Amino acid sequence: MRLVLFGPPGAGKGTQAKRLAEQHGLVHLSTGDLFRAAIKAQTPLGQDADRYIRDGLLVPDSVTNGLVAEKLEEMDYDAFVLDGYPRTIPQAEWLMQHLADHDAPITAVVSLVVPEEDIVTRLSRRRTDSQTGAIYHLDFNPPPEDVPADRLVHRTDDHPDAIRTRLGEYHRETQPLEVFFRERSSFFEVDGTGALDDVQGRVADAIADTRGLSGI
Ligand code: AMP
Repeated sequence: MRLVLFGPPGAGKGTQAKRLAEQHGLVHLSTGDLFRAAIKAQTPLGQDADRYIRDGLLVPDSVTNGLVAEKLEEMDYDAFVLDGYPRTIPQAEWLMQHLADHDAPITAVVSLVVPEEDIVTRLSRRRTDSQTGAIYHLDFNPPPEDVPADRLVHRTDDHPDAIRTRLGEYHRETQPLEVFFRERSSFFEVDGTGALDDVQGRVADAIADTRGLSGI
C-alpha cells in the first residue's frame, strides 16, 4: 500500500500517519521529520533547510525531492505513508513520474479536512515529545504526567508569525494539489475534527474502500 496523507499544517497528518504505519506495517515518511532530524544532526542539508523552516517557508523542491528519492529507494517503492509530501505541484508531478517509473503508483490520497479557525490553536498548543516523537495538544490531547516537561518541544515554526507564513504557503502552493490528486488518484476526504480515535476510524474506512476497489 502506498498512501499520501494530505491537508493543511495542524490537520493531524503526523498523528494519523503514525497510527496508519503501525496498523498496516507501513513506513511513515514525513519530510518535516526528516528535515528536523537533519537540522538536529547539523548536516549540510539540515543547515540549508533550517533557514526556510524557521520562517515557515517551504524548502526548495529540488532539495525535498532529492531527499524523498533516497528514502523511496530504501523502501523499495512500497509500503509507505507520505506525510507532508508532496506540498507543491512540481513535487507531485515529480513523485507521480518517479513512482510510475518504478511501477509503484499511489494507492490512495487521504485528505484530512479541518476548519481554518481550528488550525492556529492546534499549532500554537502543539508539543512534541523529543524522545518518542509523540505529538500532543496541551488542551485536547495532553501529554501523560510522567513525560518530563523538558522533553516537550514547542516547534520553532509553531509560533504566530511562522504559522501565518505556513498557512499562506499552504494556500498558495499546496491546496491546488487537491485538484491534481482528484484527477489522478483515488482521493478521499476525511473529517479531521474530533477525537483522534474517531478520525483514525474514518481514515481506516476510507482505506478499506480503496482495498475493496483494488483488491490490495
Ligand atoms: P511539517 O512537519 O510537515 O509541518 O513540516 C515542517 C516544515 O518543513 C515545513 O513548514 C517546511 O518548511 C518544511 N517541509 C516539510 N515538508 C516539505 C515539503 N514537502 N516541501 C517543502 N518544504 C517542506
